Amino acid sequence: MSTQSSLVEFGQRHVTKGLGRITEDVFQKGEGSWVTMASGRRILDFTCGIGVTNLGHCHPKVSKAAADQCLSLVHGQCSIAFHEPYLQLIERLIPMMPDPSLDSFFFWNSGSEAVEGALKMARQMTRKTNIITMQGAYHGRTFGAMAVTKSKTIYSDGVAPLMPGVFTTPFPYWHHFNTSPTSSEDELVRASLYQLELLLQQQTAPTDTAAILVEPVIGEGGYVPAPPAFMRGLREICDKHGMLLIIDEVQSGFGRTGKNFAIEYSGVRPDIMTMAKGLANGFPLSAIVSRKELTDKLKPGSMGGTYAGNAVSCAAAVAVADAFKEEKILDNVQARSQELFSALNGLRSKSSLNGNILDVRGQGLMVAVEFASPSHSANDPAVLASAPKSLASRVTKRCLEKGMFLLTTSVYETVRFIPPLNISQEDLAKGVQIFVEAVEEIVK
Ligand code: PMP
Repeated sequence: MSTQSSLVEFGQRHVTKGLGRITEDVFQKGEGSWVTMASGRRILDFTCGIGVTNLGHCHPKVSKAAADQCLSLVHGQCSIAFHEPYLQLIERLIPMMPDPSLDSFFFWNSGSEAVEGALKMARQMTRKTNIITMQGAYHGRTFGAMAVTKSKTIYSDGVAPLMPGVFTTPFPYWHHFNTSPTSSEDELVRASLYQLELLLQQQTAPTDTAAILVEPVIGEGGYVPAPPAFMRGLREICDKHGMLLIIDEVQSGFGRTGKNFAIEYSGVRPDIMTMAKGLANGFPLSAIVSRKELTDKLKPGSMGGTYAGNAVSCAAAVAVADAFKEEKILDNVQARSQELFSALNGLRSKSSLNGNILDVRGQGLMVAVEFASPSHSANDPAVLASAPKSLASRVTKRCLEKGMFLLTTSVYETVRFIPPLNISQEDLAKGVQIFVEAVEEIVK
């Protein structure tokens, strides 16, 4: 069973259909910004496995740290005793935190679990039940995380009833107010905070509301950075009403946006923050951080999990944190981000594209290009319901034919760039070239 076709045939027969795929090729090897497939093709990976392999595939120091840890302790169950990599990792993370008050950690395996844990903690800490989430948010696939996910109905289609006590408020994305990418940021922030205030007066009283949950750059909902004034508004509303602010940095954290954490762009202090993905560069690990004063309210034994804070994943994450500093990753993100934005904005202004690139946005190397589409430019519900959405996926398909993995995002015609944070200038330029060619062939 080693040829590409026999592997795929076996997979198609025995792997659940519920798992979608963008290619019928098979991963064999990853190295830096590139993956090699069973077909023999070498493909430039501008997805980082959905924002995970931030330091590239198989970073030598990270892989070595994991291999060494495999020879000393693989599973040190966290409800039985601490293990050293767990504590070393906390030591590395403390100085990276966006606020010095964030000093109490818990590790889990996936982003969804971190979100579950954050929701559970928020309820336990406040003894209130309701959670406010954002329109377009993505927080994961487990039951609580799915209940606060509002980006696509496919994730929870046929699964209801979900966790009750969840209320949705619009994120300041121009689509949510039927406007355009040129709408004023102040107006969007004001309109969003107005809707939130209405929600608190009409649907979920602050006395029943434990927390507001938000991604500082909404990810699966379109790669839209939250305006700093919006985040500051959320902080004020939470402070006024004794609600907690949960910041989900699962996708935007660890340098992805050009700062350690995207929340730093607003200077806002989270009460609880979730992290995963880039934390361990591909080893399953997530984290929840809060203030000791809040986590001291939790009863011992209320948090846990068989594999939570796995020793190999923690050792890998320690190596990630060290490499992140040694290799000055944030400097590379700034430099490559400028090149990426300048190339994409150049493409957007090409007259041959007839204004069909509506928006180029993002922060650092978390960047999106949104194409014009009749489904939303018409502002007509009937058109929205019936217009096919295929432009962005045709572009990403063409990119793959040309040798690059690229993903779409949101229910609009949007593609997202998530290249490795240590990508070379040459590889970034190669990816841009592939994208430009694909767009010029498809978007007219
Ligand atoms: N939160 C955010 C912001 C995410 O982007 C994701 C994953 N895309 C999750 C949570 C869920 O993480 P996981 O897939 O590791 O469960």
